[in-house]
Amino acid sequence: MSAVDYDVIVVGAGFGGPVAAKRCAEAGLSTLILERASTPGQKVISSCTIPFYGFLFGPQWIRDGDPPIERPITGIRNFFVRDGKVYATDNSFRVPGPLANRLAIGYTVYCRPFCTWLAERAVEAGAELRTSVAAVDVIMESGAVKGVVTDGGEELRCRLLIDAEGVQNILARKAGIRKTYRPEAVELCLLYDFKMAKEDIDRICGYQIEYYWAMPEEKIIAPLGEGSAVYIFPYRESIHMTIGRFLKGEEGVPVLAKELDAYYRRFFQVDRWREMYAPRTELRARIWDTCPIYAGLYQDMRSMPTFGDGVLLIGDAAGLEAAAIADGVPSAWFSAEMAAETAIEALRAGDTGASFLSRYQRRLEEHPLIPALISDTHRRDLAWARWSGDEAEMRRRVNQGWGIRLMGHLALPVLRAVYREMRRDPRVLKNWLDMFNRYHRLYA
Ligand SMILES: Cc1cc2nc3c(=O)[nH]c(=O)nc-3n(C[C@H](O)[C@H](O)[C@H](O)COP(=O)(O)OP(=O)(O)OC[C@H]3O[C@@H](n4cnc5c(N)ncnc54)[C@H](O)[C@@H]3O)c2cc1C
Repeated sequence: MSAVDYDVIVVGAGFGGPVAAKRCAEAGLSTLILERASTPGQKVISSCTIPFYGFLFGPQWIRDGDPPIERPITGIRNFFVRDGKVYATDNSFRVPGPLANRLAIGYTVYCRPFCTWLAERAVEAGAELRTSVAAVDVIMESGAVKGVVTDGGEELRCRLLIDAEGVQNILARKAGIRKTYRPEAVELCLLYDFKMAKEDIDRICGYQIEYYWAMPEEKIIAPLGEGSAVYIFPYRESIHMTIGRFLKGEEGVPVLAKELDAYYRRFFQVDRWREMYAPRTELRARIWDTCPIYAGLYQDMRSMPTFGDGVLLIGDAAGLEAAAIADGVPSAWFSAEMAAETAIEALRAGDTGASFLSRYQRRLEEHPLIPALISDTHRRDLAWARWSGDEAEMRRRVNQGWGIRLMGHLALPVLRAVYREMRRDPRVLKNWLDMFNRYHRLYA
């Protein structure tokens, strides 16, 4: 057997990879991060909203650091559209007035600066980062992963591989651990990036994210349950609008690219967009991407392993994106920390076999938030409103998933996570409050 080049190789410097690499490097393990893009985060969807629970219960150094956030988000505004007009609004899920300058339900971020910041912290801790290098295959010996082969043909050997390559899962498939996600589980998204003056964003969008919902005949979004609502996220001096549809729905495989374009054409006629946004925005880019957000809802996908001999999978590569709100960053961070802990224990014990690594899967299952997030059916259940043809039913379900009744199913897992952190160290409460204050100052 050849000598190893590194204790741990982490493939992917998106949201999860650098978090795992930093922890491994801090434990004294020689750690390499491979990233196919020239800059970390460059090939991750360009921007997103990271919910507060990612910051509170994720890595302490992110919470207590000064990461490059764009804008605090204090609520969700749901607009209901009929005949091209917004006819009702549900903004019941928001931080109450007096606290809105202090607390946030999340923060918008641009992925490239954010993931670069994460990767820099990993490098400071001693990890080596190689960009513009893709891992194209795994080195297998007696059924165990022993390293990767790069697109330059180099063989890099390690004791343990952490696969943080995101949705495509090429390495996990090559290692025989996972299959491709079924098309019903994967959403194709088309994102529009618009430049907009900060004063206009402050006035129109403020610190809220916006969702636009409609019954199928309106044709501004995918049939309910088979895609996202149109959503608008505000950044410092830009807004992003996203429309998505699953690769396969009830009626088979739609011609997605054309459909998403058609939704946009109709959405641009909706009164709120036409009057408030259109005169003040300038289109900068159109971006396509996929996310496996229903992976946790299908038993065959959910039961695929998150580990194998010599390898641990984190984040999207492990199918951990949330099914209803479609956030994947918190679970990428949670799983990265648990994978790193498992890797450190395995290397200290000198055992990187699947049986030892199975404790990682148990940690994922026992996590206070991950199982709840990946199995939340609110988005898929919007189909009931479509089947019934009842708009009131749609609004009721939107309120459950994106309005105040969201608290009904999110509160318990969040409280469990609060309890777990407080038991470890009650002083964490002060750190959380400091974080909200500091992030507001970072934005100001
Ligand atoms: C349209 C859209 C909107 C989203 N919105 C949100 C949101 O608002 N909030 C939220 O929390 N989440 C959101 N997500 C999900 C979130 O982006 C992912 O869940 C998160 O990025 C997962 O982190 P990760 O580390 O697993 O993978 P990623 O962040 O995708 O990182 C994977 C990295 O691996 C690299 N890579 C891949 N293959 C290789 C290889 N073979 N060799 C070397 N490098 C490789 C990639 O270039 C990338 O840098 C969204 C996703 C999409 C598509």
